[in-house]
Parts: sequence; C-alpha cells; structure tokens
Amino acid sequence: MPSFADLLASRPVLLADGATGTNYQNMGIEPGVAPEEWVFDAPDNVRELHRRFLDAGSDLVLTCTFGATTPRLADGPLAGRTREVNMRAAELARDAAGDDRLIAGSMGPTGQLPEPYGLLTRELCVDAYAEQARALADGGVDLLVLETFFALEEALWAIEGVQGASDLPLVMSFSFDQGTHTMMGLSPTDVVTAVAPLGVAALGANCGRSLDDTDAIVGELVDAAPGLPLWIKPNAGVPRMVGDTVIYDAGPEMLAEHVRAYADRGARIVGGCCGSTPEHIAAIARALAA
Ligand SMILES: [Zn+2]
Repeated sequence: MPSFADLLASRPVLLADGATGTNYQNMGIEPGVAPEEWVFDAPDNVRELHRRFLDAGSDLVLTCTFGATTPRLADGPLAGRTREVNMRAAELARDAAGDDRLIAGSMGPTGQLPEPYGLLTRELCVDAYAEQARALADGGVDLLVLETFFALEEALWAIEGVQGASDLPLVMSFSFDQGTHTMMGLSPTDVVTAVAPLGVAALGANCGRSLDDTDAIVGELVDAAPGLPLWIKPNAGVPRMVGDTVIYDAGPEMLAEHVRAYADRGARIVGGCCGSTPEHIAAIARALAA
C-alpha cells in the first residue's frame, strides 16, 4: 500500500471524495440523525458511499467521523463511544478502499467555542483530538484530516492533540464561509502564517460558501503558501431550498471546471464538500485527466 507522501510525490494531483452528510440525506438518513450513527446502524450504506466515490475515481476517501470527538458526541446516542465509532468507521472505509487506495480520518470542530466565547479549553481540546486521532490510527487510517475549522485557537489545539498522539501525515483545512474569511474572521493568509510552520502535510480550504469565493481563497492560499501542498474541497456551489430539499447550484460539470482550475493553479489534493455527489467526483476525475 502506498503512503500518502509516496502517492503525493508520484502524481501532480490527488482526487479525494465528496460530501458525506448531504449524500447520506440522499440515501435516506433521518433528519436529526448524525452521520456517525450510521457507522453502527447502517454500515452497508457507509461502505456503499465510499465505494461510489472510489468507483468515481477517488484516490482517497474520508471516514464518517467528522463529528466523532468526545465533546461533540457527548449529548447524543453515541456518548461515551468515541474510540469504538472512530475505529469502526476506519474499518468500514478500509473494507471499501482495499489496500491500493488511501483512507483519511476526518476530524471536524468540537462544536464548542474556545474560551472566553465558550467553554472549550486548551486541555479539553488537546485531549479530545489526541483521543480521536489515536482511535482513527488504530483503526488503520493512512492520514488524518482536521477539516472545516474556523477558530484559530481550536485549530492550533487540535493540531497539538493530533501530533502528540500520532505520527501520521496531518492535513489542516479551514472553512472560509464569510466571503474569503472564516466565521471567526481568519483570512487564508492568517491561517498559512499560523499553521505552515507546524509540520502539516497539507493545508487548505473545504466547505465555504460559493465557488467564486473559493476561487479567490485558492488564489490567496497559493500566494501565501508556496511549496506547501494545498488541499481544496469546495461545496457544490450555494445551497437553496426547493420545497423540503436542499439543492446545490453547481452541477458536476461546473464544479469540475472550477476544481480543474484549482489544480492548474497548484492545488495538490482536490475533491468536493457539501452537495458534491459521486457524479461530481466522476466529472472532476474526467476534467483532471483531460
Ligand atoms: Zn461542507
């Protein structure tokens, strides 16, 4: 099995996967059910979505563990099962990916704001990400991904926790969903300045708002972080409600056109976030090969 570093060195660009949450909605997950619950309650669906992305051309897929830190699980049905859910999710991803594609352990924010805005302390945060990283590593992931972060303190504490618990390559990705800034006001240049010296394997942006905003964010990241591998997974455009359903306005070809341009400008790992289906990933694969 190739390592993340070997694979990255051997290809100009790697294709990751698309969304988890919005595809589970399409597959019938009940409103209010966290995707992580499907790791135990619908493991065939978890494997199935991984398989669809792999069939579409993904070189790596992310585990269904975005919300699987202890603080985030605390109030739900998986409270107290952090280690088990992370290990099992990694096993399901490996079942689907086999030995020739990579699996990446997804770790999202805790859902709590750092002090003094909220209750999140450094110690709680470092411990939470160390615990999640250890469980994902023991479950067999090839790399770890901190994604959709927006607060610098939480991101830095999360990196500290992960790096203290595991030697696996670590990707750090922020969501710039207020124009080109995060909810806490960070710019792409701010995050490069703070995170690039910390020994991460890649740095980038996921989720966010519109593709036009992501175009600008990628430009700023390329200028601010020369030489650091960029990870870019945008939403399939902007969501809007049609009846009871959320529709994302970028179809596969439109998303692929933007993502192909990010690769041309130097992004090394690309994929999609909310609203991106296996069809979107297949279109990106074709655009990258063209
Ligand atoms: Zn997203």
